[in-house]
Amino acid sequence: AKERGKNNYQFYTLAMTERSLERMTVERGLRRALAERELRLHFQVQIDSVSGLATGAEALVRWQHPEWGLVYPDRFITVAEETGLIVQVGAWVLREACLQAKAWIENGGPFASVAVNVSARQFLEANLFQTVRDILSETGLNPNALELEITESAVMQNPESTLQVLRQFQALGVRLSIDDFGTGYSNLTYLYRFPVQSVKIDRSFVIGLADDGSSKTLVRAIVALAHELRLSVVVEGVETAEQLAFLTAQGCDSLQGYLFSRPVSAEQFSQAFIGAGLR
Ligand code: C2E
Ligand code: CA
Ligand code: CA
Ligand code: CA
Repeated sequence: AKERGKNNYQFYTLAMTERSLERMTVERGLRRALAERELRLHFQVQIDSVSGLATGAEALVRWQHPEWGLVYPDRFITVAEETGLIVQVGAWVLREACLQAKAWIENGGPFASVAVNVSARQFLEANLFQTVRDILSETGLNPNALELEITESAVMQNPESTLQVLRQFQALGVRLSIDDFGTGYSNLTYLYRFPVQSVKIDRSFVIGLADDGSSKTLVRAIVALAHELRLSVVVEGVETAEQLAFLTAQGCDSLQGYLFSRPVSAEQFSQAFIGAGLR
């Protein structure tokens, strides 16, 4: 038993060293990525559940690394948040998403808005509001064509100061959405006070629909609550026709998931969903 304890200890310190090495590598790489323009935006279509039309997209950042290939945000967003680099990454994402949405809206068609993820650190530390306002005027995108997604857990870290920032965005006309809804510990009083237009039901509930009980009940309850508060309900992670049937029957307003499309490059998105390519 003693022997094993020692091995575990060595394993533990090795794992810790590997983790901090990985962090340093990612941090250094990310600085270069910003300078060398290695970041990319992919777009995942959002489908209006009534019309079946592509009314928007969520912008999702990727990193095209010269050696590692396409790196997904799970590998670098946490490091970006911890180092503060998220402020620069986030500004890049916002500008790129607004430029793209502007072009798609000018193309006509039902495409109406782009959703951008904003992390807690961006929300509370940097001057996000001024950044967004500048980018909107620079790109000429109508503020109501931009939606900011902030996670429920980020909102709840500091609800009072979040509320102040949300009110500024509301006055500007930017749309706001609470992401990963149902996974945090929301104080419903805040949900009522937050000037948001939609909640986004987390994928874990969609996965859970296949099992016996609670996910179905929770989805029904979230939709009822949201609609009572006049919020629109977006669902992420829709993969099967069964999930789609249940979610539309419950009155979910907007749908996103591999059933419709994976996140794709701007060029692929244009071909599939904008203008002539529209289905
Ligand atoms: P999220 O905001 O919850 O985004 C949804 C994630 O689920 C995306 O992963 C998306 O590709 C994936 N997804 C969508 N539909 C399906 C589906 O049907 N099945 C499955 N299995 N997955 C699906 P992705 O792109 O790897 O992003 C992961 C997370 O990274 C995001 O979770 C978000 O929290 C964060 N993130 C992505 N882009 C940004 C960004 O620009 N800024 C910030 N701050 N965070 C970002
Ligand atoms: Ca999101
Ligand atoms: Ca989400
Ligand atoms: Ca999620």
